[in-house]
Amino acid sequence: MTRTRTLALSIATLAFSANSALAQTPTAKPAPPTAAEANLNALKRGVAEHVDGLAKLAQEAVDSVFSFGELGFQEVETSKYLTGVLEKNGFKITRGQSGIPTAWVASFGSGKPVIALGSDIDGIPQSSQKPGVAYHDPIIEGAPGHGEGHNTGTPLNIVAAIAVKRVMEREKLPGTLLIWPGVAEELVASKAWFVRDGMFKDVDVTLFTHVGNNLNVSWGAGGGNGLISVEYLFEGETAHSAGAPWRGRSAADAVELMSIAWNYRREHLRLSQRSHSVITNGGDQPNVVPRAASIWFYLRENDQPHIQELWDIANKIADGAALMTNTTWTSRILGTAYPQHFNKPVADTVYANILKVGLPEWSEADQTLAKALQKEIGNATQPGMATKVAEMGQPVKIEDNMGGGSDDIGDVSWNVPTVTLRYPANIPGLPGHNWSSGIASATPIAHKGVVAGAKVQAMTVLDLLTRPELITQAWAYFNDVQTKDVKYIPFITKDTPAPIHLNTEILARYREQMKKFYYDPTKYPTYLDQLGIKYPTVRTTPATPQPQQ
Ligand SMILES: [Zn+2]
Repeated sequence: MTRTRTLALSIATLAFSANSALAQTPTAKPAPPTAAEANLNALKRGVAEHVDGLAKLAQEAVDSVFSFGELGFQEVETSKYLTGVLEKNGFKITRGQSGIPTAWVASFGSGKPVIALGSDIDGIPQSSQKPGVAYHDPIIEGAPGHGEGHNTGTPLNIVAAIAVKRVMEREKLPGTLLIWPGVAEELVASKAWFVRDGMFKDVDVTLFTHVGNNLNVSWGAGGGNGLISVEYLFEGETAHSAGAPWRGRSAADAVELMSIAWNYRREHLRLSQRSHSVITNGGDQPNVVPRAASIWFYLRENDQPHIQELWDIANKIADGAALMTNTTWTSRILGTAYPQHFNKPVADTVYANILKVGLPEWSEADQTLAKALQKEIGNATQPGMATKVAEMGQPVKIEDNMGGGSDDIGDVSWNVPTVTLRYPANIPGLPGHNWSSGIASATPIAHKGVVAGAKVQAMTVLDLLTRPELITQAWAYFNDVQTKDVKYIPFITKDTPAPIHLNTEILARYREQMKKFYYDPTKYPTYLDQLGIKYPTVRTTPATPQPQQ
């Protein structure tokens, strides 16, 4: 989407090219800083000190959200806690955006520029795990948990925002900070709705952040796919499965045939696609021909037209399955994510701050935990935690992109200049969406990684608040490079509801048990202390061989 902005129009003379105009020219002798630069550097040092002073809050927030372990759309305790912290620190909260009960936006300040800080908050099914223990050891068997590390990103943004707020108040800096949560990111089911309903309409730049194992940022088209998440619901008729099976029409047969057909068709799809499904309703009991059955697909591809193509194929296959079984079908969108594209001028700014901040110092205990886990899950090498800052991520050519994961931050990135900061709150070399990604997520690794990330985030906000030319450059890249030939065509319509029913049953099953393990910071210095876990806990006997991934 291209927007007309006075800011963006004023630099029409600057012709940006992704490769040339914005590339930094190395100079032999860096010029001495101007007075403005020296002043900004001093503000950045000050904001980093504020962040250090908020390290205890960072730890409490990281550990609290970890202990809630809530899945998408069920982030009730999480949102209550996070908005509570923000309110206590002088942010104004609005709630329930896009009809999503766990959504909210916190704001501080007024006027331009408007900087939006976002990060995900939801967990992963079946990933309950004791932190600091380098092998599978669930807190509650079968329960959800933070098997991705989404417990750390919003605490990072909150710490950064509080630190920046103090500087804004002292320096009387104009501008507005918005903090918003990526609700149900694992279902990619909120950000396209937030975009549709105007959450970003006045935003100048979005600084998103996501857990990683190094400090990093990238620009241009990312790797990975966009996706459409669709559930197909078949309807037939019941009958006695033994007494009069010829009078029944099985919706479960249609689901099975659709699944089989998709897996045959897969051979003839582009190599860049990734698709997977789960059966959400397979019928009630064997002696009743299933009247209702359903199957839920994630259909992933590199760009909007190819995602649409996959979706069209799936619809045809559903027609075929219905024809074969004399059933009917309907479908509903359960999520969507655009392929991601990040803003170069903003990414350059973030990366300069990454170089200033550098990686946290990992203790021997951190490295012992990391190496023990890398061994436990069968990795060929055990390098431990990263000790060198990653190179800045470069654009991936669409023909080289063989697909991968998705994040609905993609939808935001096509509506407002956006980048994702990765920060080191997890251990390198993990499969993801797995108990192993929860192990570091409430330990000193996560606490230090969040403080480092919050410094980068806070410094970048100060850059954006005090250097208006950066906002101008960000929009020039957005309008003249990123969206010059590619337009945002959302998959949802104005009527598509957010699928807030998802995960209700799982939380209903586990919530009472999970409550017993919520972190109480008034009683325990850390969550590890509350659980009585020695840090790190590693195997003293040889590991049982794990099946290779
Ligand atoms: Zn994630």
